[in-house]
Amino acid sequence: MNQLFARHALLPDGWCADVLLEWNQAGDLVAVTPGSAPAAGIECVEYALPGMINLHSHSFQRALGGRTEFAGDSHDSFWTWRDLMYRFARNITPDHIEAIAAQLFAECLRHGYTSVCEFHYVQRQPDGAWYDRPAETAERVIAAARLAGIGVTMLPVLYSYSGFNDSPLKPEQQRFRTDADDVLRVIEALAPLRDGQTEVGVAPHSLRAASIAQINAVLAGLPPERPVHVHIAEQQAEVQQALAHTGRRPVQLLFDQVAVDGRWCLVHATHLSSTEVRSIAASGAVAGLCPTTEANLGDGLFPLEDFLAAGGRFGIGSDSHVSQSPVEELRWLEYGQRLHHQRRNIAVSKEQRQVGEFLWQGALQGGAQAAGRPVGALAPGRRADLLVLDDGHPNLCGLALHEVLGSLIFSGNDNLVRDVMVGGRWVVRNAQHVAQQAIAARFKHTMAELREFR
Ligand code: ZN
Repeated sequence: MNQLFARHALLPDGWCADVLLEWNQAGDLVAVTPGSAPAAGIECVEYALPGMINLHSHSFQRALGGRTEFAGDSHDSFWTWRDLMYRFARNITPDHIEAIAAQLFAECLRHGYTSVCEFHYVQRQPDGAWYDRPAETAERVIAAARLAGIGVTMLPVLYSYSGFNDSPLKPEQQRFRTDADDVLRVIEALAPLRDGQTEVGVAPHSLRAASIAQINAVLAGLPPERPVHVHIAEQQAEVQQALAHTGRRPVQLLFDQVAVDGRWCLVHATHLSSTEVRSIAASGAVAGLCPTTEANLGDGLFPLEDFLAAGGRFGIGSDSHVSQSPVEELRWLEYGQRLHHQRRNIAVSKEQRQVGEFLWQGALQGGAQAAGRPVGALAPGRRADLLVLDDGHPNLCGLALHEVLGSLIFSGNDNLVRDVMVGGRWVVRNAQHVAQQAIAARFKHTMAELREFR
């Protein structure tokens, strides 16, 4: 019987008591009924909440976590980190890509992510030739997602240039090289893999790496309603380059020439003018915020307070995967704002004064929109993707219900996620991923092979 009884479940309007959740064989919720009575034979849990969406991932970068934390000769920056990442990407094979992604996805699940959007740009062989199957590496990431049991939105990347004004790619970028036709071909090749757990969209890498004409060509060939993600305005240098070459800031340039709407996820969007803040908010696009990576790379702080005041939508991603925890992303999203404004409790609305609940619900809504999949809420028609918290943990003892998410996000470093269900199937039980040992063994083997990348 596909049923679960939660004494407390986080529904779109807030916590509800005595909720019976029911789902079908396809993994979709068919009924969510508060005020139910617990019936014999049905598993009963204390706290259930929707699984989080990780809206921005480069899964192979999981293998670099903690390995770029040494000072070079000059000021280290995003750009010097990127050189190290390129060197690492030079040698990985499809087998490595799959093994690393499976490990990452299992870790993400254990920490409460049940969906991931993979911004996928290592698509060619090391010498720049295509694999026999043009979607080979994308298929490997999807295979890893299926093995781990996480929902995935695959976003093949459009990547043609090394900078504004159509600068040619550098040798170390040849594995990423695609034009509009290449990307549409990969998207078409992935079409048979679309199902309840898998969607396929597209990702122009950035306005540095893709021209406006190419972006519009890809949009013209993309099936409707598919998600579109782009890196934008992550670095001050990128804004300066855009101004120098086009006379416009990146977000301004995009909005002037491309129809940006709710299909879009603008990843980072760190450096914005007040006009750009309002443009993104008014478009219905999601701001894809990755606070731990943005901190790790020294990007800067997103203007969250102004963006929320303008009605903007946001979600979170772990990007380079220095963290695999939505708790850490949301905590640092709020802490960055507190440090900047020298105030407390920034991410709230008039109606929702609980920071933890505002952040979790907001990131669910924005993340679901960016994923282009029916996730992000415990409601009929959505996927049966949920987390069960460890109600025996001291951090969750003696709390009022409205304090639960505050404690989850802002108290301590223990992982309070006990069980995780994706598409109606348990993939984490008692804090252990169901295939953890096999996935970790393969990852360790891969890391041993890739040890010498410098
Ligand atoms: Zn990224």
